[in-house]
Amino acid sequence: MKNYINGTWSDSTTGRTFANLNPANSSDVIGMFPLSSADDVAAAVAAASAAFRAWRLMPAPKRGDILRKAGDIFTRRKDELAAIMTREMGKTLQETKGDIQEAIDTAYYAATETRRLFGYTAPSEMDNKMNMSFRMPIGVCGIITAWNFPIAVPSWKILPALAAGNTVVFKPSDDSPHSANIFAEILEEAGLPKGVFNVVHGQAEAGSALVEHPDVKVIGFTGSTATGNAIAARCGALNKKVSLEMGGKNAQIVMPDADMDLALTGVLWGAFGTTGQRCTATSRLILHTDIHDAFVEELKRQATAIVLGNGLTNSAAQVGPVINQRQLDKVLSYIDIGKSEATCVLGGERDTTGDNANGYFVKPTIFVDVERTDRIFQEEIFGPVLSVVRATSFEHALELANDSAYGLSSSIYTRDVNAAFTAIRDIEAGITYINAPTIGAEAHMPFGGVKGTGNGHREGGWTVFDIFTEWKTVYVDFSGKLQRAQIDNY
Ligand code: NAD
Repeated sequence: MKNYINGTWSDSTTGRTFANLNPANSSDVIGMFPLSSADDVAAAVAAASAAFRAWRLMPAPKRGDILRKAGDIFTRRKDELAAIMTREMGKTLQETKGDIQEAIDTAYYAATETRRLFGYTAPSEMDNKMNMSFRMPIGVCGIITAWNFPIAVPSWKILPALAAGNTVVFKPSDDSPHSANIFAEILEEAGLPKGVFNVVHGQAEAGSALVEHPDVKVIGFTGSTATGNAIAARCGALNKKVSLEMGGKNAQIVMPDADMDLALTGVLWGAFGTTGQRCTATSRLILHTDIHDAFVEELKRQATAIVLGNGLTNSAAQVGPVINQRQLDKVLSYIDIGKSEATCVLGGERDTTGDNANGYFVKPTIFVDVERTDRIFQEEIFGPVLSVVRATSFEHALELANDSAYGLSSSIYTRDVNAAFTAIRDIEAGITYINAPTIGAEAHMPFGGVKGTGNGHREGGWTVFDIFTEWKTVYVDFSGKLQRAQIDNY
């Protein structure tokens, strides 16, 4: 398994490698991947810089044709790729297929945008003059991502970046490198010219070399807030554009007038789907006191029935393992913290039964009697752990939801239209769902968060092009004389 630089598969110049393991069975080694250095990154950036010259001049709709073809190939390879993803990062096949579908949707959406990429025209304040503006590509984009959506999240960045005429060097997570190589295979088969898209595997060393490289003009990052903030600090010093998609601690509010069955399915999916390893996972449940006890009882009953297992070998599995030993240790240590802060009413331990013995499985875990100052209420755990707090009123529920350093997704279950609209206005988050869980996104809508989750950019939809383009303003003066704006005119 190799890097993909200038259309060629190559080993790292370091000769070093890392192992990609199946988190559902850590004795299953998927392959050895290059542990790349700054030299490997430099080779990829050189290829991307050279390819930029021609790629930016290709008519945008022709670039769109290649992306549309990539969408077709993702569709054709969906089942095969889903199995590869489930093996390397653990979520169920149903979920990995959904992950790929997001890339398919994004490919087709980005392709259609190549026939728009609208600029603005505006009247001139002078005679015989026209004003217009265009979105221009920026150059080489460095894309650095996490492992929880190995295809979808890279696609949100890479495909619009390419559509806009940029070239890309992609440093995927070392927990999902195989999926990244399939991404490269698909773009190659779709007809992307050599050097336009490159993959360099590795860890912080390769990621940081990409951030530092002077010919990388934009960084698109998805990962933890700690890493994102460190990258942003370097980009600030280097005057480099950076878009950050970082951590979350998303809250779901359930009011007494809600459809309780609907709210329950929302919590189960939001908290335990993808093993709680989504930036949008529901990790805080804010229950109105009138329904708190009955809701918790039913939630426990239904969560107990969740089947943990290897998505490739156990067709009944609903929830997979956490990603690696480090994350297992982290989740278990947060469970210990939770036990000292609150009351654990479900789970609270690793699952090593039967076929799960060699995997990083954690039982769905629920804490009640959680206080807003507790670490399990405030800190991102990124596992199947739900903290439940009691709200005495709607206003209290909103206050609890907003008591967070993060602001990605949020949700409220209520049938009261006034409460719903107040929540839409007052919850501090990039995304608010009404009567739906915190998780999920559609390719053509802006995605991102406020506070510690982001730095003001939005992926998805038309807004992603604000990250991967810069504006060129053009004035055409056909008066045949010198017209001095603001001097001759007034
Ligand atoms: P991480 O920050 O450890 O790693 C993310 C990526 O950054 C990896 O590719 C890693 O190799 C690279 N990296 C690490 N150190 C670096 C450095 N110094 N310079 C450059 N690159 C470096 O995150 P993770 O554990 O892989 O992912 C989990 C986190 O991702 C969670 O916090 C989750 O909320 C977040 N996430 C956010 C979103 C979103 O859209 N907001 C989506 C998915 C995941």
